Amino acid sequence: MIELDISTAVALYLFLTVIGLLILWLIFDRDTKPKLYTSEKKSIWQCEICTHTYVDSQHDVISKCPQCSSYNKRKEATP
Ligand SMILES: [Zn+2]
Repeated sequence: MIELDISTAVALYLFLTVIGLLILWLIFDRDTKPKLYTSEKKSIWQCEICTHTYVDSQHDVISKCPQCSSYNKRKEATP
């Protein structure tokens, strides 16, 4: 078995934790980056049922209204 003193073990633990968080940060940041540069108008939805206006940047085609829980489809003809 490899013998470690307590300071080396703590330093190794912190190093591996930071590396793990860095990898997770890179994975999730790569997923969110393209959505940061999309236009703001694409994420604004108006519900066809209750006319509630809300922001949903997660979905592009179909979005769920937070007020009445109905599904709204993106109209392609909007300029
Ligand atoms: Zn609604």
